[in-house]
Amino acid sequence: MVSKDRIRRLRRVLVGWFAANGRDLPWRRTRDPYAVWVSEVMLQQTQVETVIPYYERFMRRFPTVAVLAAARLDAVLKCWEGLGYYGRARNLHRAAGMVMSQFGGEIPGEREALLRLPGVGAYTAGAIASIAFDRPEPIVDGNVMRVLCRLFRVHGDPRSGRTSRRLWEMATVLVPRRCPGIFNQALMELGALVCRPGEPDCGACPVRRLCEGRRHGEQARLPVRRLRKAIPKYTVVVGIVEKDGKVLIDRRPEGGLLGGLWEFPGGKRIGRESLKAALTRELREEMGIEVQVGPRVAVVDHAYSHFAIRLHAYRCQWLGGQPTGRSCTAWKWVRLKALTRYAFPAANREVIVALAK
Ligand code: SF4
Repeated sequence: MVSKDRIRRLRRVLVGWFAANGRDLPWRRTRDPYAVWVSEVMLQQTQVETVIPYYERFMRRFPTVAVLAAARLDAVLKCWEGLGYYGRARNLHRAAGMVMSQFGGEIPGEREALLRLPGVGAYTAGAIASIAFDRPEPIVDGNVMRVLCRLFRVHGDPRSGRTSRRLWEMATVLVPRRCPGIFNQALMELGALVCRPGEPDCGACPVRRLCEGRRHGEQARLPVRRLRKAIPKYTVVVGIVEKDGKVLIDRRPEGGLLGGLWEFPGGKRIGRESLKAALTRELREEMGIEVQVGPRVAVVDHAYSHFAIRLHAYRCQWLGGQPTGRSCTAWKWVRLKALTRYAFPAANREVIVALAK
């Protein structure tokens, strides 16, 4: 159990350090709950430097929850294009609709109400409640998890249910009633700037005298890491199917990976079939069309969180059949120049760049 005196010192030192060293980030210049929410969703799984231009563009395009709720999902995904983890954008859009229909257009400040919104988990609810509404709610993200494991010498795997619960309990005890949002941000900032993954910069750390991990020389070994399993790699073939000066694109179902985004039709190679045979089969099975496969225009490697792909893109000439789109929700023939109006996953965007050359 951590003593009250130690908790008080930790809060005081950390908040003072944050006031002098915290980064000036666009979302820290406001306490508008909508802005805090958008930034926190974007920051899940994504680096701060990557998020900044997306956040600024998103807030210009959808400045309020009402504007976001009224927007078409396609427009939201286009604005999110390149940021990845598109489920975040779909959930944000759905949740904006819920705020308008169930909360009278006001983002709620209570954790329980926030947790009812799609895509809002314990971390995001805690961040919005504490930063925008001054509620003493804890947050535990990757940075906080690392700092707490080192500060309090936690040896369990933080991804396990038991240790995760322990870390949330610690964060609950630590968060103060006064300025909880500042304290939470200070804890995260310490993890981002000083108590970084690998070897932390303990010499520059404001709480080094309170750190158990450092005292025992264990700072670089905590938190304990699980061995990562090797991820599978798939070979994917897609066709740039041309007909009357236009190319065929299809829209992925909303529920799954990259849901709602547009792509060039194709699919996975099976066994040892040739790439061209795989593409001919996929376009026949999935789109109901016959094509003449032409030259290859791009080979793109891309890694997702649980698997990686090598994507081969071929120009194809349409020979016959009307697209049916068995595994998509829509399809279109569009001019090459018009492709930029649609939101595509990263690997497909590289194909578009190759086509433009
Ligand atoms: S002293 Fe080192 S290990 Fe401990 S919190 Fe600070 S940076 Fe992290």
